[in-house]
Amino acid sequence: MMPDYHWHTARCGHASGSMSEYIMEAQRQGLIEVGFADHIPMYWLPEEGRNPGLAMADEEFPFYVQRVLSLRETTPVPEIRLGVEADFIPGSEGDLKSILSTYPFDYVIGSVHYIDGWGYDNPDLMHEYEQRNLDELYALYFEQLCAAAKSGLFDIIAHPDLIKKFGHRLAKPPLDLYREAALAFAEAGVCVELNTAGLRMAAAEMYPAREFLVECRKKGVPVTTGSDAHQPEQVGWGFRLALELLKDAGYSEVALFRERNRTFTRI
Ligand SMILES: [Zn+2]
Ligand SMILES: [Zn+2]
Repeated sequence: MMPDYHWHTARCGHASGSMSEYIMEAQRQGLIEVGFADHIPMYWLPEEGRNPGLAMADEEFPFYVQRVLSLRETTPVPEIRLGVEADFIPGSEGDLKSILSTYPFDYVIGSVHYIDGWGYDNPDLMHEYEQRNLDELYALYFEQLCAAAKSGLFDIIAHPDLIKKFGHRLAKPPLDLYREAALAFAEAGVCVELNTAGLRMAAAEMYPAREFLVECRKKGVPVTTGSDAHQPEQVGWGFRLALELLKDAGYSEVALFRERNRTFTRI
């Protein structure tokens, strides 16, 4: 069995459907364990610099948490976990730490969505790629990814090669960067996320790429799964392929989280 630990909600401003609809879709598919992991408010920016189309406002956050906890109370199957997708922003670790300690999360998914303030995965900012050297960009991206893992703030590292989202790829797969990142994950004790959203994007494959996932397995990095659903129809997206890829990469179990403690279940 594989959990779907990466669901957004309409609160983030770019997802749709009610939270109950996500759960009903999970029930229909027979998922055993799921979790909401909506975007954390943009804590690193002053209020006026935040975009309500990217993440919920500070004052919404307690209501998000309350809603997940109450759904958990009233839903026998699937098991519902309280997660959050939190941006890693170098220099703002202290602020993030204090926000994370405020709520009873089952897991925290750490994401690198920004490179020196550029939201490289935002379709509205895609033109910036034309100004960039792709090799340098990948190196910068992976540097931040490793720093995120080492920060100790996260249980899971999200979509670890999201930089390929719009199809910007290097001439050859960056195996050295994959190895370095897998080693950083292993040393930090974080889990890697197999995220199926890449199947819906120009990347046309999951995050991470097969070679990257294999490096993670070789280094003993645990794995967990998420669809990154932004609408109920995306719950469990591509999970059959994800299961095949996991087995193909040599994984026989996936990580589950409760109160930020990790256990494993066979796939
Ligand atoms: Zn993300
Ligand atoms: Zn997400």
